[in-house]
Amino acid sequence: MTGAVILVVVKSVELGLPLWAVIGGIFFGSLLPDLDHPSSTIGKRVLFVSVPLAGLFGHRQFTHSIWPLILTIWLFNLTEHANGYVMVLMIGYMSHIIADMLTDSGVPLLWPVQKRFGITICKTGGVLEHIVAFGLLAVALIF
Ligand SMILES: [Zn+2]
Repeated sequence: MTGAVILVVVKSVELGLPLWAVIGGIFFGSLLPDLDHPSSTIGKRVLFVSVPLAGLFGHRQFTHSIWPLILTIWLFNLTEHANGYVMVLMIGYMSHIIADMLTDSGVPLLWPVQKRFGITICKTGGVLEHIVAFGLLAVALIF
């Protein structure tokens, strides 16, 4: 996983993305999975998106599965038309999913199958969750 993150960041820099775009893209991408929560940092800014998503799927459902990433790869066909901006957004998105996998709630990676995947290191909403999430983001930015 770390190797993939490094590869994507290096590829993004090779594509000529400025560092601010890489950092900002990773940060913004890390907020996107919580679009399904109207009280989240991003959800409360786009209620016209977060309220319907919350009503349709609930929190930590579709947006916390592998499907948004697969859809993005399919839509942008990253293997042939690499787009650095999309890749840094995906790094941030994946960092959020990994961070949520470290909480006691886990994530339904194979949604709509409700089996939750994860390793419980901390409680959802706890201080340690924020520390772990910040640490993962810092690691992604450093490498
Ligand atoms: Zn989340």
